[in-house]
Amino acid sequence: MASHYETLGLSPDASQEEIKKAHRKLSRKLHPDLNPGGDTEEEYKAVSHAYEVLSDPEKRRNYDATGNENGTGAQGGFGGFGGFGDIFEQFFGGGDGGQGPKSRTAPGRDALIRIRISLEDAVKGTNHKLQLRTAVLCTVCRGECVEPGSHPVTCETCHGAGHIQRPVRSLLGQMMTVAECPACSGYGTTLPKPCPECQGSGRVAETVTKNVKLPAGVDSGTRVHLPGQGEVGTGGGPAGDLYVEIEVDRHPVFERDGDDLRAVLSVPMTAAALGTDVTLETFDGDHEVSIDPGTQSGDEVRMNDLGVPHLRGGGRGDLRVTINVETPRGLDEAQQKLLRDLAEAREETFTEGKLESRGLFSRLKDRLRG
Ligand SMILES: [Zn+2]
Ligand SMILES: [Zn+2]
Repeated sequence: MASHYETLGLSPDASQEEIKKAHRKLSRKLHPDLNPGGDTEEEYKAVSHAYEVLSDPEKRRNYDATGNENGTGAQGGFGGFGGFGDIFEQFFGGGDGGQGPKSRTAPGRDALIRIRISLEDAVKGTNHKLQLRTAVLCTVCRGECVEPGSHPVTCETCHGAGHIQRPVRSLLGQMMTVAECPACSGYGTTLPKPCPECQGSGRVAETVTKNVKLPAGVDSGTRVHLPGQGEVGTGGGPAGDLYVEIEVDRHPVFERDGDDLRAVLSVPMTAAALGTDVTLETFDGDHEVSIDPGTQSGDEVRMNDLGVPHLRGGGRGDLRVTINVETPRGLDEAQQKLLRDLAEAREETFTEGKLESRGLFSRLKDRLRG
C-alpha cells in the first residue's frame, strides 16, 4: 500500500502548504464527476484520506511515528457521514474557532432516488440506467467559482475576515458586536468576475445518467449505496452519496416469499388424478413440474434452487408451486355418464343424487396441508 505521502505525490518533509496544494490539485483531477466511467473514485478517496491524516498536525505526527494512523485511537472511520466535514474544515480553515471567513466550498448533499424494477431483474440482477437531475461540478471554472483567469479578491469591507465589528448602543454604553460581512456574505473575498456558467457557485444543474449495478436478490426496500455519486458541493466541494431504493413490481405469475418464489398452477381434475408433467416457464427457462397421480388441490411441488438468490452468501431459495385442481364445469350428457360410471366403479355412490356424508367431513386443519 502506498504511504499517504506517496498518495499525494509528496516527500515526507512536505510542508502544510504543499500538502494542501497537492490535495487540491488531485481532488480536482480525480473528482468522480469529472471522470464519468473512469474509475477514479477509489483514488479520490485515498487522496482525501491521506489529506485528512497529513493535514492534521497531531495525526501526521502519529502517522510519521507509527506508519499508520490508528495509534491514537481517535481516528474516525472515513467514508461515512461526518468524515468529509472534518476534512473540509481543515482544508479551508472554516472550523478553527469560528472567527475566520466562511469557505465557498461545502460538501454536497446525499440524495435518495427510488426506482422500480421487474421481479425478473430482482432475481437475476441487472444494470439499471438511472437518470437524475443533480448538481455537477462546473466544467468552466472547475469549482473555482470565477471566470477562468480571474481570481477572488479580498473583501474591502471586512479585509478578508468575513465578519465585521459594529458598535451598538446599549444601556451599558457602546458595545461591539460581530456580524457577518454583508459585502462578501462572510466569505472574506468577493468575485469580481463570477463564472458565467455557474454564477459563482462552482456547480451546475444537469441531468445525468448513472449505471447502477443491482445484485441478484434485491427486494423492495433494498437500498444501494453509491458513495460520492450524490449532489456535488459548492465551490468544488465533494459530492454527497447517492442511495438508490428499489421497488419491485408485481409479477403476473410469480410472487416472492422471502427468497422463495411462489406460483399457483391449475390442472384439470383428470390430470391431477392420473398424474402428468406440466412445463412451467420460469426465470431460468422451461422446467417440468411433476404432478403425482392423486395430487390434491393445495398440494405444493417444491422445485429446489429456482427461487431468488440470497443477497448475502451463496445459494438460492426454492420455487414452490401450489396445485389448484380444477373441477370440470359444463359437462355434457356423455361426460356426465363417464363420471357416474367412474363414481360407481369407485363405490362413491349416490342416493337419489345425494352423497352419504358420513366419513367425508374431517377437521379443517387435517385437510389443509402445507
Ligand atoms: Zn463555473
Ligand atoms: Zn467582507
